[in-house]
Amino acid sequence: MNAPHSPFPFDAPIAAAAKAVEAKVVAWRRDFHENPELGNREVRTAKIVADHLRALGFDEVKEKVAYTGVVGILKGGKPGRVVALRADMDALPVKEEVDVPFKSKATAEYDGQACGVMHACGHDAHTAMLMGVAEVLASMRASIPGTVKFIFQPAEETPPIGENGGAKMMIEEGCMENPKVGAIFGLHISSIYPTGAIGYRSGPMMASADDFKVFVRGNQTHAAMPWRGVDPIVVTSQIVLGLQTIVSRQMNINKAPSVVTVGVIRGGVRHNIIPDEVRLEGTIRAFDEEQRNELHTHVTRISEMIAAAGGARANVHIHRWYDVTVNDPALTEWSIPTLARFAGDGKVNVVDRICGSEDFSFYQKVVPGFFYFMGCTPPDKDADTAAPNHSPRFYVDEDCLPLGVKTLSALALDWLHANSG
Ligand SMILES: [Zn+2]
Ligand SMILES: [Zn+2]
Repeated sequence: MNAPHSPFPFDAPIAAAAKAVEAKVVAWRRDFHENPELGNREVRTAKIVADHLRALGFDEVKEKVAYTGVVGILKGGKPGRVVALRADMDALPVKEEVDVPFKSKATAEYDGQACGVMHACGHDAHTAMLMGVAEVLASMRASIPGTVKFIFQPAEETPPIGENGGAKMMIEEGCMENPKVGAIFGLHISSIYPTGAIGYRSGPMMASADDFKVFVRGNQTHAAMPWRGVDPIVVTSQIVLGLQTIVSRQMNINKAPSVVTVGVIRGGVRHNIIPDEVRLEGTIRAFDEEQRNELHTHVTRISEMIAAAGGARANVHIHRWYDVTVNDPALTEWSIPTLARFAGDGKVNVVDRICGSEDFSFYQKVVPGFFYFMGCTPPDKDADTAAPNHSPRFYVDEDCLPLGVKTLSALALDWLHANSG
């Protein structure tokens, strides 16, 4: 597999078809932007996607995969293998502050609280671009050597608390089988690069993400008589500092960077009471699966041992969310010339690792996958200071959309062309 590129018979038709669908992609993106839906609730979005794929004459359109996911199958006119393209559809509990005519006014309930809803991570653009790709490839289907599987996935930003969902559940429900996928491609728009720029890394590109909760149990007493109890506030303070020595003193930073952050400390009700319990919450990020497990061991051991030293008890719960996003090195190397043909000279560059995480990583555990970033900050703004993804002021320059349509289309067809027949 990953045979060298042979001449590129698809470039001109892709460029023409992408141009023809450009205005529609913008319109879809604005519609999704104005009508965002939280993870596992993308009912309206999924229906628009499924209707579009059916109207294009797809061979199969499967709905309600992992709650609201859509999987479309487009069989080409020539025999060949199967390549998958993936977009995510969910929005975030963020109240939009960007003043555009299609600004989101949507509200919903998240974790028991009323909230605004916004496509603050650009998944509206991802969904619209992949719909555009569907139209481009459907127009060329007679000449496609193989099958393209379109995966529109819910809940990339993690499902609502207490629910399953996202890429992991899509895979559990068979989205990579029947027909069996050989490789997968996906992209993410990002404010940290200017429009027209593409960023990638071979190997680990985005971090794994796990959260931890530590319940530190002391013994409640009068604040004026601490010797009569066990103070979990002091013990928790020591645990926080202890956790900060994991990355600095115990991890081999020659191998990969990592992060341990405490984001929540909760405990106590009154100035003159030492409480029974304090709760800590935090996140663990790694770029190496072995180090990820090591970090878990350290967090658990340090919390338990420091608590024991103070006469308290720590219960540690670690939840594994997303794996490290690892771009298959051979597939990455193979993909770059395709991206460069459409992005132009100097526009495709190796970028720093990103400590954020992606559930695209789960697909990459099943087949070789390549994930890349596309800049979406307009030329009149500084990408270094532009409001980042997840900000209520995250702004998408729609001029980035055609490049996404063209590169995803080309990666799929080049891969089929190189690996079929
Ligand atoms: Zn996000
Ligand atoms: Zn995202």
